[in-house]
Amino acid sequence: MTTPPTPRASRQARVNLIFIGPPGSGKGTQAVRIADRYGIPHISTGDILRAAVKAGTPLGRQVEATLAGGGLVSDDLMTDLVRSRLQQRDAQNGFLLDGFPRTVSQAHTLDELLGGAPLIVTMLSVASDAIVNRLSNRRICEACGITQSVFVGSEGENEACPYCGGRLVRRQDDAPETIRRRLENYAAVAEPLIGYYHERPSFATIDGLQRPDDVTAAIAAHVDRQRILLADRLRGVE
Ligand code: AMP
Repeated sequence: MTTPPTPRASRQARVNLIFIGPPGSGKGTQAVRIADRYGIPHISTGDILRAAVKAGTPLGRQVEATLAGGGLVSDDLMTDLVRSRLQQRDAQNGFLLDGFPRTVSQAHTLDELLGGAPLIVTMLSVASDAIVNRLSNRRICEACGITQSVFVGSEGENEACPYCGGRLVRRQDDAPETIRRRLENYAAVAEPLIGYYHERPSFATIDGLQRPDDVTAAIAAHVDRQRILLADRLRGVE
């Protein structure tokens, strides 16, 4: 008895995406847009950890000090967290991972979890001085979670979210000295991670300093190209 073929439409629909880029490169903003465009969940490991800290869960208590200091949570803990998140029903037709993998060990684990399923890799590149500027001026709405930029010199704590009126606050790890620490951490781990992926045809570097709409368009063009290639490959084996 032969196994019935997987319907082509559902195989083509699967989009497994990861974003690599320094903190402040616009990953979060772009991830929301791209996940929405392809109907896949946006899985931000930073958001999951911050929510756990806020809710005071055992995980949150475990990672609180690491997050506040801008360090990296252990590979084991991150791997467990991502494994169980990718098993959830909404990730069965694809996902967009934002903030994971951060290390080569995490990248290996992700490949294992995917078991040969295609992975599209997008790297957003932005120079460090532009990032320090961006992050120092970034605020997050306590109510709806949207990210906003405030004017230089403003503390932003008293400003209201233009979307829901909630309070805009600075993320604890966006304090200037923590930003520097996070950028150092990123630089130390990014190079081997980029080395791990950059030979793959599914890897693309996008200039994160373009207008946000242009960044979105460039990422979508990369994803669409990869999906066409994948569809051609699938047709070739049928
Ligand atoms: P992010 O919002 O991606 O900048 O993540 C915020 C913080 O969460 C980081 O500074 C780390 O402390 C932690 N974190 C998020 N994702 C990872 C990961 N894949 N590996 C280790 N730590 C992580």
